[in-house]
Amino acid sequence: MSHPFSGASCKQPAAVADLKRQLASNRQHPQLPYPEIVNLPFNRQALPDGFVLHPTPQQPSDAPGVWVLLQGGSVLMQPDGEQRLLPEGPQPAWLALKQPPLSFASLQGKPVRVAAVPSSLPIPPELVAEPFNAFQERLSPDLMTIAGIGKQLLHWQRMSRFCSYCGQPLEQLPETWGKNCVGCNNEHYPHIHPCAIVLIRRDDQLLLIHKPEWPQGRYSLVAGFLDVGESLEECAIREAMEETGVTIKNVRYVASQSWPFPSQMMVGFVADYASGDIKVDGKEIDDARWFTIGSLPSLPASRSIARFLIDSFGN
Ligand SMILES: [Zn+2]
Repeated sequence: MSHPFSGASCKQPAAVADLKRQLASNRQHPQLPYPEIVNLPFNRQALPDGFVLHPTPQQPSDAPGVWVLLQGGSVLMQPDGEQRLLPEGPQPAWLALKQPPLSFASLQGKPVRVAAVPSSLPIPPELVAEPFNAFQERLSPDLMTIAGIGKQLLHWQRMSRFCSYCGQPLEQLPETWGKNCVGCNNEHYPHIHPCAIVLIRRDDQLLLIHKPEWPQGRYSLVAGFLDVGESLEECAIREAMEETGVTIKNVRYVASQSWPFPSQMMVGFVADYASGDIKVDGKEIDDARWFTIGSLPSLPASRSIARFLIDSFGN
């Protein structure tokens, strides 16, 4: 029996190739300072042609559409040779959802819906669960970006059912993803959490850190959440001190990347070493080292702002 999905290719092959060339050009012109738009997945620049994000959730309908099906840390995709496509079609019979799908966009006129698939639900053999993260090279950047925006909006819808002031239900406001409290009339808008991430340089060396939960041998940049009453530059300086014991200077903003895991905004900086010896706490950070540019360890995914900073400003 044929299943109700047919593969949805969200870009023409030529457009995908063009996007890949744009991504590659970031690496080919590493000295380009302070780009206005960074073409990394999860930023809107990486969305495919014909994608329109709705300003507010759309009414449910039975029209066939494109599906972002999230199950745990995976996104369910339809294999097409080496490619992975977002499933397309009407809601299939096997997809028993606890909450109705969220219609958040259109793609070439077709509704794009996101849904959380219960972990207990077996997925049909025509779909595969692909781990959803920036290391996932099998997913094209444009489809990753659609899935990322859907994931972030679904997260917001699920965590904004009640008012955090008074506990009464929230109602959807028109023409926005914001909501209004029926009890106290306070308005609530999608939470986006800023994080500073900083490439620290000293002559021909980069300061990289390792966390216990990361794969052995893979290092990345100092990063952390913005604190109350703190500028992003101050956040970078504080995190460098907390994570490595090192003081930095000349903190300069470079670029940013939306990060839907679940709702961060990664704000990327470069900085110079000022003073201090490396000291790690052994808990949150279990190693930090200076690496010479010619002999860097295993690094973050090429689709992350961390890797963008290293590739663009690490030489
Ligand atoms: Zn309220």
